[in-house]
Amino acid sequence: MARVVATPSPELPAILGGRPTFPGGLPFARPSVPDPPVVAKEIERVLASGILTDGPRVRELERRAAEYIGVRHCIAVSSCTSGLLLLLRAADLSGDVIVPSFTFPATVHAVMWNALRPAFADVDPETLTLAPGSAALAVGARTSAILATHIFGTPCDAQGLAAVARRNGLRLFFDAAHAFGSRKGEVPVGGLGDGEVFSLSPTKVLVAAEGGLIATDDDVLAERCRIGRNYGNPGDYDCRLVGLNARMSEVHAAIALASLDGLEERIAHRNALAAAYCRTLADVRGVSFPAVRQGDRSTFKDFTILVEPAAFGVDADTLAVALRAEGIETRRYYSPPVHTQRAYRSLIATNGDLPVTMAAASRVLTLPMWSDMTEEHPALVGDAIARIHRWLWDPSSRGSAEKLRRMARVGTRKASYGRVRGERFPRGDEDA
Ligand SMILES: *Cc1c(COP(=O)(O)O)cnc(C)c1O
Repeated sequence: MARVVATPSPELPAILGGRPTFPGGLPFARPSVPDPPVVAKEIERVLASGILTDGPRVRELERRAAEYIGVRHCIAVSSCTSGLLLLLRAADLSGDVIVPSFTFPATVHAVMWNALRPAFADVDPETLTLAPGSAALAVGARTSAILATHIFGTPCDAQGLAAVARRNGLRLFFDAAHAFGSRKGEVPVGGLGDGEVFSLSPTKVLVAAEGGLIATDDDVLAERCRIGRNYGNPGDYDCRLVGLNARMSEVHAAIALASLDGLEERIAHRNALAAAYCRTLADVRGVSFPAVRQGDRSTFKDFTILVEPAAFGVDADTLAVALRAEGIETRRYYSPPVHTQRAYRSLIATNGDLPVTMAAASRVLTLPMWSDMTEEHPALVGDAIARIHRWLWDPSSRGSAEKLRRMARVGTRKASYGRVRGERFPRGDEDA
């Protein structure tokens, strides 16, 4: 005789007809926009002043950022990408630069635009930041620098990388796009290595609409970056280096200055949101989190989980589509890794295997994270993931993984990387 089972079958995931967790949608990211009336007034003042770029507000931003980080120099630029271009140019490098492949492509683009060769190295399996051991193995006779990324705001193993750089006579730089406000122990990011570059674009925690900041204690590098952002012309039209127009406008500086207010609160809140994610997902088999080392602080520019398909039941791609049906927008930062992207494929043959990068890229799923989220949001997202997992492993829903994968295949595959712009964010997360 069949046993009567009292436990109800788990709620059906939305992709199979269940009720969506967020019927109005939960956006992936929303820019931390400073108070519009305050900024509008500042912009009016800029226009009235007649100084539209590289003026007093830019100087004020540089002063405040340098003070916040505790470095001698902050140089405001038009973007993190242009800042990275200039910093590498200012350092007068040659040959190879060791970079992670598990990063945003701009890190590696900056190397290529300087006619240098990226030498890809692997990341640490726990923090997903450049692994000093792998970087050491990538050092060759032509290597001149290391450029590592504080991925998601997680500070790199700066000491380990500095040791590799020292032993081999390399410069050490960081793509700190995600990490304005991160700390490596007591040291604020911005004060590590020979120089670091922040991004102030819309999805970052400090926002200027578009913009970047180069931070360095090196007087020579700083001077060359300052000249470099202005075409390389120090004022006498005898260009000292092949520069760019990478100036920051006064309007962008005004937005960034307003965005500095409340930064600490936003970072603290994002850490609380990350903790809420970790709590709700702690018991879901097959879900793990990249580590931020004890004593370090991350901005949690992004919150990324790793989905182990065998243990969870389906892979990250399928889960992303299932979450989309729940109204939850995700991305897969950073998949595909840079060295497998079309612009870089021709370089693969000259680079070694990156097993940790490949494994991480196949598992990453980045969940919604923005400064105005409430702790309820991560709890509900976590519940939705747990519910999908329960359903996949429930004896009454046999063949569920295959069913979900089939549904995911026909569903729109919008989960891969896409640009996020303020004006495109759907409204209606208040339905939650
Ligand atoms: C956003 C980002 C960049 C590019 O920043 P821009 O200011 O848009 O040029 C570079 N590196 C990383 C890791 C990023 O996430």
